[in-house]
Amino acid sequence: MIAVEGLVVRYGAATALDGVDLYVDAGELVALIGPNGAGKSTLVNTLAGIVRPAAGRYEVRGRIAVVPEGREVFPDLSVDDNLRLGGWRNGRRGRDTSAIYELLPDLVRVRRQKAGLLSGGQQQMVSVGRALMARPDVLVVDELSLGLAPLVVADLVTHLRELNASRGIAVLLIEQNARLALELCMRAYVLEAGRIVLHGPSAELAGSSAVAAAYLGGA
Ligand code: ATP
Repeated sequence: MIAVEGLVVRYGAATALDGVDLYVDAGELVALIGPNGAGKSTLVNTLAGIVRPAAGRYEVRGRIAVVPEGREVFPDLSVDDNLRLGGWRNGRRGRDTSAIYELLPDLVRVRRQKAGLLSGGQQQMVSVGRALMARPDVLVVDELSLGLAPLVVADLVTHLRELNASRGIAVLLIEQNARLALELCMRAYVLEAGRIVLHGPSAELAGSSAVAAAYLGGA
């Protein structure tokens, strides 16, 4: 679904991505972990077509939808209207939101509330729902867990798992929380200073002392 080869992105003289290779196959759950400033958001923005690479190539097959870092719901609009905006294409009205409420039933009872008044977890749910309105084949989720309580994150992860299992939606999960990412995903990449320094099955990475020391709070 996603194929990235030798991707280089520069901001002026600064190199944010320095030859990144990465792929996500249909139906896969893949994690990209790395510290602040590693280039994770730059990769998301490149895949979304917002940032232009200086070199290398990327290809996205099928529809991609991004759940942005910080959720970015429209605070003064209702949950329902936030969802509808996700289905808005080429000037045509968004499709019916009922499928999203079936997938994310917790949103039903807040559907008429202003999104800005919801909890962080509920807003993240709205952000996921809005992305699903585009009927994506692959979902890129940027920092799912940021600022959310562990129980709320666990609930969101359950939903991502279900979407993957029942709808076959591939997921690229961009996370600072390596433990979470390695638990959810079958494969993972570690990005540091614009380069993929490690990749492989999550179980292997979780067992690696380098990953444990740097990302899992001790070996
Ligand atoms: P975070 O988790 O903090 O968002 P990140 O891994 O997503 O970090 P990026 O935001 O992609 O990292 O940033 C990668 C590098 O590029 C950093 O050194 C950052 O300072 C730099 N950078 C990002 N955006 C710009 C920009 N618009 N102009 C100049 N430099 C930028």
